[in-house]
Amino acid sequence: MKLHIDTAPVWEVYRQDHECPLCAINDRVEAASVEYFLGDSVMEPSQRIEVNEKGFCARHFKLMFDAGNRLGLALMTHTYMKNTLKWLEQNAGRAVAAAEAGRPVLKRVIGKKGYGLAVCGDEVLALEDRCVMCERIRDNMQRYIYTILYMYKHEPEFPGLLEGSKGMCLRHYAETLKMAPEHLSGEALKRFVRTLSRLETDNLQRVADELEWFTRKFDYRNEDKPWGNSRDAVERSLNKLRGHIV
Ligand SMILES: [Zn+2]
Ligand SMILES: [Zn+2]
Repeated sequence: MKLHIDTAPVWEVYRQDHECPLCAINDRVEAASVEYFLGDSVMEPSQRIEVNEKGFCARHFKLMFDAGNRLGLALMTHTYMKNTLKWLEQNAGRAVAAAEAGRPVLKRVIGKKGYGLAVCGDEVLALEDRCVMCERIRDNMQRYIYTILYMYKHEPEFPGLLEGSKGMCLRHYAETLKMAPEHLSGEALKRFVRTLSRLETDNLQRVADELEWFTRKFDYRNEDKPWGNSRDAVERSLNKLRGHIV
């Protein structure tokens, strides 16, 4: 995979203090994507075609709604809806036919799809999983994970900076592990995986301890003891487990 390298944002987030530096980048990429889809992309034909076909997931519809450009969102949503309606008419036709043919619960027949109500329902549910913005963010994040691996190999200062970081959220840790052997090999790969895995377990342990202290602070015997780092331990625990959600 040949990817464009942009090291500046990675240097920046690794010099700051984040439970997951990749989540910090993800937040920026997502905010820029919301702006992009509500801005110029509305007029761009190739982008419109993709939006009409895939639409957005619940989270990204909501973020665009909150961003306040009602007209831009209305234009995109209207053409996506027309497209969806055309598809839905066929899906609904298959549902009625399945019920009338007396095979309402048919799921899959070997090799080809048999249309029963379960399949029709699953197809409608699958609409929720398609999202042009998720795809765009995923592509960007792949590029940043690649950049981290590239910097680990080529930037002498970066491994030290990584060593001093707080690991990542579980998702970004997993994605980085999966991508590592595509770009690192031999000793560098071993060293990288050792470092990353130790950072992940050590820091999950640290946050777990901080969370435990948070719960123990509610015991009257600990009332006067210092909070330490535990005041925001609940937020940081959720973000460590599931990415930057709160
Ligand atoms: Zn993350
Ligand atoms: Zn999405």
